[in-house]
Amino acid sequence: MKIDVLTLFPELFEAFSAESILGRAQNAGYVTINPVDFRSYSTDKHNSVDEPPFGGGAGMVIGPQPLIDAVADVRTEEASIILLSPQGRKFSQEVAQELAEKEHLILICGHYEGIDERVSMLLGADEVSIGDYVLTGGEPAALVVIDAVTRLIPGVLGNRESASADSFSTGLLEHPHYTRPREFMGNSVPDVLLSGNHKEIELWRHKESLRRTFKRRPDLLNSYSFSEQDRSLIRQIVAEEFDRLEQD
Ligand code: SAM
Repeated sequence: MKIDVLTLFPELFEAFSAESILGRAQNAGYVTINPVDFRSYSTDKHNSVDEPPFGGGAGMVIGPQPLIDAVADVRTEEASIILLSPQGRKFSQEVAQELAEKEHLILICGHYEGIDERVSMLLGADEVSIGDYVLTGGEPAALVVIDAVTRLIPGVLGNRESASADSFSTGLLEHPHYTRPREFMGNSVPDVLLSGNHKEIELWRHKESLRRTFKRRPDLLNSYSFSEQDRSLIRQIVAEEFDRLEQD
């Protein structure tokens, strides 16, 4: 996959994308992350990209010319154009999976008050928001999208790091994890994880995954399809949690 990122701050992407899984994915040829400084496309004699808003008001607005020219330069037939915006559709693991199947992404990062409305319209951009809050610029949002998408490209994560059991991939939050030492500040690792009984361990993990989701994100259960075993586990969880409440 190729990811072009149109930004006023290309240097923000260099350090981030050279490290860890993104760095490895780039070195192995799974993904190329290419920050493009769209200021360099400005035809203004001062290389300016922003102007005051028509109609008055605070702040500056990024004008259409540099972005439209920059996209024309990097666009391919397969390109999907994503405009990072707090007003876009909500980014999620499902959207990350959808984007991970594309060959070419062009991510556009806004700044100031945002981007002239005609850019999104002319490019047929898919506007994507990483959450209901306003960032100063689209760069942190683009980094979130790049990271979440890259780890889903087949081959990027080895078997040991597989994303298939990650939170949201299964429709549930993932089970808790433990590592050495067995005992830490009076708290021990659940016995079943030390038992060597893989079937029991899998069952425990699935039950704890259901418990976490039930307690922390019950909204996710609305679209989860329960097996008979899940139903019986949920009944056990409810009884256990009720007992725990009574003991407290
Ligand atoms: N005035 C705009 C509004 O109220 O909708 C917000 C502009 S924001 C200060 C500047 C840029 O940051 C946006 O153009 C967008 O690229 C990016 N941005 C801010 N919040 C974001 C979010 N939640 N998700 C994605 N991008 C965001």
